[in-house]
Amino acid sequence: MNLHELEKTNIRDPYNSHEVLYHESPEMFMSICPKTAKLITCNITLCKALGYTSKEIIGKNIFELYDESCHDRVRTLFKGFLKGNIVENEELVVRKKDGNVFPVLLSAKAVRNNKGEILFSNSCWRDITKIKELESSLKKSNQLLNQKVKELAQKNKELEQFAYIVSHDLNTPLRNIKGVLNLIQEDSESDVPPTWNTYFGYINQSVARMERLIDTILEFSKLGVKSEKQLVDPSLILNEVLEDFALEVKEQNVMVCKEKLPKVNGYSVEFHMLLQNLIGNAIKFQNKERTPKIEVGAIDQEGEWMFYVKDNGIGINLEYKHKIFSFFKRVNEDFKGTGIGLAQCKKIVELHGGRIWVERNKDVGSCFYFTIPK
Ligand code: ADP
Repeated sequence: MNLHELEKTNIRDPYNSHEVLYHESPEMFMSICPKTAKLITCNITLCKALGYTSKEIIGKNIFELYDESCHDRVRTLFKGFLKGNIVENEELVVRKKDGNVFPVLLSAKAVRNNKGEILFSNSCWRDITKIKELESSLKKSNQLLNQKVKELAQKNKELEQFAYIVSHDLNTPLRNIKGVLNLIQEDSESDVPPTWNTYFGYINQSVARMERLIDTILEFSKLGVKSEKQLVDPSLILNEVLEDFALEVKEQNVMVCKEKLPKVNGYSVEFHMLLQNLIGNAIKFQNKERTPKIEVGAIDQEGEWMFYVKDNGIGINLEYKHKIFSFFKRVNEDFKGTGIGLAQCKKIVELHGGRIWVERNKDVGSCFYFTIPK
């Protein structure tokens, strides 16, 4: 705004820009006498905020303007100020004429004569009511969040214990069924109709499948419970996993491309399981029309490593990209499986503080990514 424009406003003395700055500032300014601790002058913003006229407020001792709760602090600050200490962003509480209070940040600077003696202070109050309100609502939200996190952790623990107990207890009746079935088969070897042997076969198959499922649930509920974090070398683990699959890799001519993998802070047994599941799936869900190829690597990202296991297999309909990470969720029934491997992977990655997801491989097949914090 130039002076001509200023003239058109109703500011008292538009030519005296310092006065305008002082009185119309959004901050509260005042000067305090170092000897008497009384207010020598202040701006209009301060008068308005405290509900006094300038006549009423000038000459008041500063202690009359602060809430009693912070008098001790004001005394210490004032003493320090007289000794030359800097007062910067001190949180205090101011009392208005009507008795109401509000929080401020006080900063003060000494104005000295040429002998270095303090003539008065140039002090500034900043009203921080809004900041304090935000702070307190943030605190409340944080408390609520912490409470929810605790409840969730407790629920998770209960659920894991439940899974453990249920799967543990399911084993006993299953063993009984298996035992009794064996006895029936032994006792009635020759005098049962041939179809019965087929039925026995079905029952045995179902029992074996049930055993496998119970074992995987048990394994799932125990993930990370007893493990300790340590420096893990994924390259070594990948070699071990590939040794486990050596027969399939050889028989099915699987081409494996390994990038150098970074060492991470993690749970080694679980990391083994993670790579085992992903590599196992990459081998299992291959497209018979092409030579299976698996690529494993890691990309350096800010704060984390992004590992990937890429294949050129049958690929995944991205409609199921979330579903496949849930327990017992399978998309393709043409391949054998329990539908638990990826749920296990998700739990392991989350145990490490990372994320896991799948994308369609840009050529053919799928690519599983997971992150591990550095
Ligand atoms: P399972 O392999 O026992 O079926 P998972 O939990 O490991 O169980 O996988 C869930 C489903 O995700 C699979 O049934 C399959 O449909 C899909 N899937 C997993 N990995 C791949 C992959 N590499 N390529 C294509 N589909 C996959």
